[in-house]
Amino acid sequence: MRALRAPMPSAAQLEAEQDRLSCGGLADLGFCAKDLAQLAALTWRINALKALRKAVIPGHVYQRPEILVGVADFIGDSYKLAKLCAETKAAAIVFCGVRFMAETAKILSPEKTVLLPAAGAGCSLSESITAADVRRLKAAHPGAPVAAYINTSAEVKAEVDVIVTSANAERILRRLYAKQPKVVFVPDEMMGRNLAASLGKKLGEELVIWKGSCIVHDKFDAFSIALYRKAYPGVRILAHTECSPALVALVDFVGGTGDMMAYVEKTRAPYYMLVTECGLGELARTRFPEKNFVFMCRLCPYMKMTDLRAVLRVLEDPSPSVRVEVPAETAARAKAAVRRMFELAEDTVKL
Ligand code: SF4
Repeated sequence: MRALRAPMPSAAQLEAEQDRLSCGGLADLGFCAKDLAQLAALTWRINALKALRKAVIPGHVYQRPEILVGVADFIGDSYKLAKLCAETKAAAIVFCGVRFMAETAKILSPEKTVLLPAAGAGCSLSESITAADVRRLKAAHPGAPVAAYINTSAEVKAEVDVIVTSANAERILRRLYAKQPKVVFVPDEMMGRNLAASLGKKLGEELVIWKGSCIVHDKFDAFSIALYRKAYPGVRILAHTECSPALVALVDFVGGTGDMMAYVEKTRAPYYMLVTECGLGELARTRFPEKNFVFMCRLCPYMKMTDLRAVLRVLEDPSPSVRVEVPAETAARAKAAVRRMFELAEDTVKL
């Protein structure tokens, strides 16, 4: 792919783009006319260049709202984005998320060009474990299947039996336990502890876990929950599965980001509080403007590294330094573990 300059919009096109961003929910989030005019100049050019490149932009729900409203072709959690990236016919994928997600897209679609706008967009969970750590765990627990959270590097995925996401971890582990008395789950300690509680498994014996943590979700304080309930009578509190068991025990619903959005959509309550990264609350406000949201959220520094300028930059100059590559042998083994997740999560395979 050679370097290309994005076309420039006319005044009328710019005005229409500004209206689109405003109606898409950015005005409700407090973006003023001056902000919207500046954003529109970028989103219009990105969308024009995206069409010329035959590219798609997946946006994780934790991304900045101007990315999700302005340029994302599909929005979702890790599971949904992995599936859609595998299915897209586009020639290039500009991944607005973090590195392990872009790597998963490359693993599933090795023939496509995958671009990561923010090279430093990592993840504390993904960085908490290496392929060598997994090999040591396998040697210490022979015969036990190893399930890895999708928040792991391609090298780690290549070493494990199956990948899981927050939306399907419990379901997939139940299926593994139907055949095996012991399962190894990596790398999120909090999620591992929550899984052990919901599955009724003994930690360390039936469920072996790792000590990785998400720097966003492990900071939420269980003691604040009672204060919020008092301040907002009737509030429904939803927490991500990466939060601590102490907090999870006090909330109304626990799940992945997709499950949390579905819960908000299907229920009626005077207030909702989403205990997760702040991007989900912003997205919920644009999707459900008639509902009230109370915020106990934290920003993920990795997720917020991507901005519109970086997206435009990689589309204009998709040089090797911004392309995501995974060695073929690693990709093939990692793909088998991701495919296994799709099969087990969707019941298309018998164990
Ligand atoms: S929110 Fe946590 S798990 Fe998600 S990318 Fe950030 S550090 Fe990783």
